[in-house]
Amino acid sequence: ETLTVGFVGLGRMGGPMAAHLVAAGHRVLGYDLSAGSLAAAARTGVEPAASAAATAAGADVVITMLPAGRHVLALYRDEGLLAAARPGTLFVDCSTIDVADARAAHEAAAAAGHQALDAPVSGGVTGAEAATLTFMAGGGEAEFARAAPLLSAMGGKAVHCGAPGAGQAAKICNNMILGISMIAVSEAFVLGESLGLSHQALYDVAATSSGQCWALSVNCPVPGPVPGSPAGRDYRPGFAAPLMAKDLGLAAAAARAGGVDAELGLRAAEMYAAFAEGAGAAQDFSGIVRAIRERSAP
Ligand code: NAD
Repeated sequence: ETLTVGFVGLGRMGGPMAAHLVAAGHRVLGYDLSAGSLAAAARTGVEPAASAAATAAGADVVITMLPAGRHVLALYRDEGLLAAARPGTLFVDCSTIDVADARAAHEAAAAAGHQALDAPVSGGVTGAEAATLTFMAGGGEAEFARAAPLLSAMGGKAVHCGAPGAGQAAKICNNMILGISMIAVSEAFVLGESLGLSHQALYDVAATSSGQCWALSVNCPVPGPVPGSPAGRDYRPGFAAPLMAKDLGLAAAAARAGGVDAELGLRAAEMYAAFAEGAGAAQDFSGIVRAIRERSAP
């Protein structure tokens, strides 16, 4: 079935995602505040709209891929995105946003007579370009089923995580594991260095022992053991440290709001915030190993 899709936010992720919808035969009306992003999307077959609200008029589904919750809520509520759509339109937000903001977005959509799904992604820009993203969705069964053909055009896998906000919850919980485990692996390599243990020896043991994890065996923070990990190209991302800092900040806020004793999650959020503001601004998140090494006594 060919759908008419409104797509707002055609940046590094949204641009290639919208292009895959066009390639799958859907009609896509797009909008981005950046004229350059809008022009790039137009070259992939997206029809440029004059405003965000203009993408929603006549759409079956409206997808947003924006920086943060405040952008989504401002568009939904103040900038007329919900009001411009015909009743019963499905609003799918793929941005990574605060769980509370995601729930507010669901409520605003429902109040306007629409359906909604939070469907953040993992897989990064490479996954968006290759259409191998994993979607984590929150909302009703019917909404998930309705979005499924579009999600499968943009990604490789979609998991229905539960009620409104559950997609965002899964995303920040997963990335809290990832942030903490990258720090753990980095501290272990620096400790190994101080004990005269080679990177390769620690890798060979840990990658086949109980220390095994994605941060070690795929995104290894020291160069050598895993060819192709960002460490081997001077920590060019990959998954940029500021994005990890953002996701850990959302996890920390949710932990505080829920009274959860997430000691390491809160500490990881602080460490990544500091790293992302300094040396890590343009680095892969695994570059935090260098910050840990620099702070360690020789
Ligand atoms: P980006 O900055 O490249 O794109 C965001 C786009 O939104 C920009 O082009 C911006 O101009 C546009 N925008 C902002 N406000 C707007 C508005 N009011 N109307 C229209 N357009 C507006 O960011 P990105 O890397 O594409 O990330 C988008 C979302 O995806 C974020 O929430 C991010 O956390 C999440 N995410 C990113 C990655 C990644 O690797 N880049 C991975 C997973 C999830």
